[in-house]
Amino acid sequence: MSISPTKYIFVTGGVTSSLGKGIISASLGKLLMGRGYSVTIQKLDPYINVDPGTMNPYEHGECYVTEDGAETDLDLGHYERFLNSPTSQANNVTTGKIYQTVINKEREGAYLGKTVQIIPHITDEIKRCIKLLGQTGKYDFVITEIGGTVGDIESLPYIEAVRQLKWELGDDSLFIHLTLVPFLKASGELKTKPTQHSVKTLLESGIQPDILVCRTEHELGVDIKRKIALFCNVEKEAVIESIDVESIYEVPIKMLDEGLDKVVLKKLNLQDSTKLNLKHWNSFLKKLKNPKKKVSIGLIGKYIELKDSYKSISEAFIHAGTTHNCAVEVKWIHAENINSKNIKNQLNGLDGILVAPGFGDRGIQGKIEAIKYVRENNIPFFGICLGMQCAVIEFARNVMGFKNAHTTEIDAKTKFPVIDIMEKQKKIRKKGGTMRLGAYPCKIKNGSKTGKAYKKNSTTERHRHRYEFNNSFLEDFKNMGMCATGINPDSNLVEIIEIENHPWFVGVQFHPEYKSTVAKPHPLFVDFIKACINQKTL
Ligand code: GLN
Repeated sequence: MSISPTKYIFVTGGVTSSLGKGIISASLGKLLMGRGYSVTIQKLDPYINVDPGTMNPYEHGECYVTEDGAETDLDLGHYERFLNSPTSQANNVTTGKIYQTVINKEREGAYLGKTVQIIPHITDEIKRCIKLLGQTGKYDFVITEIGGTVGDIESLPYIEAVRQLKWELGDDSLFIHLTLVPFLKASGELKTKPTQHSVKTLLESGIQPDILVCRTEHELGVDIKRKIALFCNVEKEAVIESIDVESIYEVPIKMLDEGLDKVVLKKLNLQDSTKLNLKHWNSFLKKLKNPKKKVSIGLIGKYIELKDSYKSISEAFIHAGTTHNCAVEVKWIHAENINSKNIKNQLNGLDGILVAPGFGDRGIQGKIEAIKYVRENNIPFFGICLGMQCAVIEFARNVMGFKNAHTTEIDAKTKFPVIDIMEKQKKIRKKGGTMRLGAYPCKIKNGSKTGKAYKKNSTTERHRHRYEFNNSFLEDFKNMGMCATGINPDSNLVEIIEIENHPWFVGVQFHPEYKSTVAKPHPLFVDFIKACINQKTL
């Protein structure tokens, strides 16, 4: 089915941040897709960074990388995991990008003679970026999530831009506003005032929301819904309850029960007679909620105080675990807390460990200790990016006897630079968007563990790094039992390493977690969890 013209849905948030705009957008997208429509979701971020690539994960959580190499907000990960369709550069717009484009144009003389202003120049550029996805002709719906909270100074140009767009697009667009309905324990009541105020703030900017999605810890009930409808000028059926649930993957079903998709279709003058097919989603949910077994996996990283730093990894565990009817319990281990004395204790009872990606020195020693332990004790190991590089360093030091082998990222003068800067990176000085980013092909060795997991001998995976396995040591490693089983066919860059003589010891230079979705759990995660289940039953 295809509808023309493209329909635009704008999602704003009020009262507080972290209400789950990304999950609601992804859930609505899922429901519309389930009805046969094509959907893409875009995030507008009001910060001035050009992208989150230069931000510390403590600030922002994980930096999600798209196929075409954009460093983006982690909400794009949710969009891909829910919709199983890739996003791109165009799906994440920041204030930094908007201003950069406008200022570059000004320097080129594109506005010659004019004063360049927030309105119309910045707002026009925002509007252009929103319409870009619709203009591809590929989508029936473009859902645009506006980051931040209404009333923020930074959000104002975005709010003005979508106000104008609504004026231009008319019935082909609508507004969904997310708010919070808090429960006051002392009086035992749900309170609607914050929602009323939030809608008022939006109205001051000239936007009347069509649908309100109200986050709550308790059921709203008809009276509260009626009250919100009356005071906020929306129909009662357009007041949608978004109650806390255990898993984000339940949210599409909650939204279905609340009729979110139906109200959206009605307000856009589309029929809701299209059949909804959520068969696969529902069977995933059923398996997720009724696991038959459980494994415990240690996730070793240095940003674990903020679990969002590893969002795609923890979601990939859920997808892969569910494939095996298995609950995955993640034990978050701070790399800095690991040393040779406490390692046994730290990893006690774990069925496998994953060493996470990262940058710089902090926590490296702990990661190397953990890898030594699992290598020697035949515990399944999965290393991603820096995690893979640490596995190479550990093997060089403790198996090959390369004393103080290191990555030149941390020890530029090491005698054994087993991980070294990529040739193309040597001259790069600017930090933003200059890593090796996005999807590259990988040829996989026949008969290897990863080859068996993928069930094919080539793939493409996404990247985000500056350093690589130093090929001048390739033979030394092979002779001692660590093999490169995945290679980039164009550059010979080592993409995968394995220790053959171990139940499951795999390191990957790329980031498989970015490609794991509910519909397509990533084969390496699926195989890793299988190895952990086997480990447990040994
Ligand atoms: N710091 C390492 C590099 O740049 C690893 C990067 C990562 O883990 N994403 O190569």
